Amino acid sequence: MTIPIIKPVIGDQEIEAVSEVLQSGWVTQGPKVAAFEEAFAATIGTHHACAVTNCTTALHLALLACGIGAGDEVITVSHTFVATANAIRYCGGVPVFVDIEPDTFNMDPNQVAAAIGPKTKAIIPVHQMGMPCDMAALVAIAKTHNLPLIEDAACAIGSEIKIEGQWQRLGQPLGDIACFSFHPRKVLTTGDGGMLTSNNKKFDATFRLLRQHAMSVPDTARHRAKEVVFESYSRLGFNYRMTDIQAAVGLLQLQRLEEIVATRRRLAMRYQQKLAPINGVQVPVEPSWARSNFQSYCVRLPDGKDQKTVMQTMLESGVSTRRGIMCCHLEPAYEHEPWRQGSSLRESEKAQNSSIILPLYHEMTDIEQDIVIEALGKAVA
Ligand SMILES: *Cc1c(COP(=O)(O)O)cnc(C)c1O
Repeated sequence: MTIPIIKPVIGDQEIEAVSEVLQSGWVTQGPKVAAFEEAFAATIGTHHACAVTNCTTALHLALLACGIGAGDEVITVSHTFVATANAIRYCGGVPVFVDIEPDTFNMDPNQVAAAIGPKTKAIIPVHQMGMPCDMAALVAIAKTHNLPLIEDAACAIGSEIKIEGQWQRLGQPLGDIACFSFHPRKVLTTGDGGMLTSNNKKFDATFRLLRQHAMSVPDTARHRAKEVVFESYSRLGFNYRMTDIQAAVGLLQLQRLEEIVATRRRLAMRYQQKLAPINGVQVPVEPSWARSNFQSYCVRLPDGKDQKTVMQTMLESGVSTRRGIMCCHLEPAYEHEPWRQGSSLRESEKAQNSSIILPLYHEMTDIEQDIVIEALGKAVA
């Protein structure tokens, strides 16, 4: 038996909810999606929440709503899942990669200001592995340069940040739009799925239009209509609809958010304590104004330890791990394609090559966690 990197939290309730939807006669973007959006907005504390197929398409719609088009530059990090940079390229935009802070693995605000140029049209900070970015600094930079700020909060459902002395969940949003993921590797799951949150009514209306081919009258409205209605298609749109099957699962997952985050944080704190005595292993740093949901728990290996060897040794002890977050600019898909280097990417490359992600899941027992700790200790000894 191998200890997995994550296990989704899915109970009988979710299974029942799925059968109910299947029996109801309405299976996509209907009443369950509307209810999930409403519950999500209330949980996060935002005005609008719009459900879509996944976080990649959420980022795509966010960029389109901000008017990103051919040749426009968008500042983001290379040290992220490739979806962030790909979404910029879907719009014909050019990702401008800046480096991360070594302690939080998040976008370094000092590099952002320096990378802004005449073609810069937006900034996408990534709350990497659930750790909130330094939004106070990033919002100030975005305001100074009048640039929209799109938060890639794919991993950050339930993470909190302290702003002006008050704790709040990420996604109100502090920028203009936040994008969430419900992939099984994240904290809540609907199989696949995504959500855009915003306090801007116009943005929200654009997401709703574009997620169903810019259709003037949604199917739900035509279904209810007492008179025949013909729809029209005002611009190029997409099929980014979430199904009611997914939303029914999401509604139940959302009810467990607090409990899931509390458990993940307890396990993360236990890792912090128990890993401290292992020579040279560096645990994640949580700034005083941040409370991560610890979607991933990433440690830096002691200097000189080979990442792959450590991971292989741990796998042989029955523990799966993953390498640190990838760097987009090092992938073949970015080799000949347009992107610009906004700063040195030394810390990003170092993080990819010298850190590993340890197992962390809701149902993890202390005994399982001790097995991971022991396996890591042996592998780096
Ligand atoms: C997972 C992830 C995404 C993509 O989310 P999907 O829902 O799988 O499309 C985007 N950005 C980051 C940082 C992620 O971790």
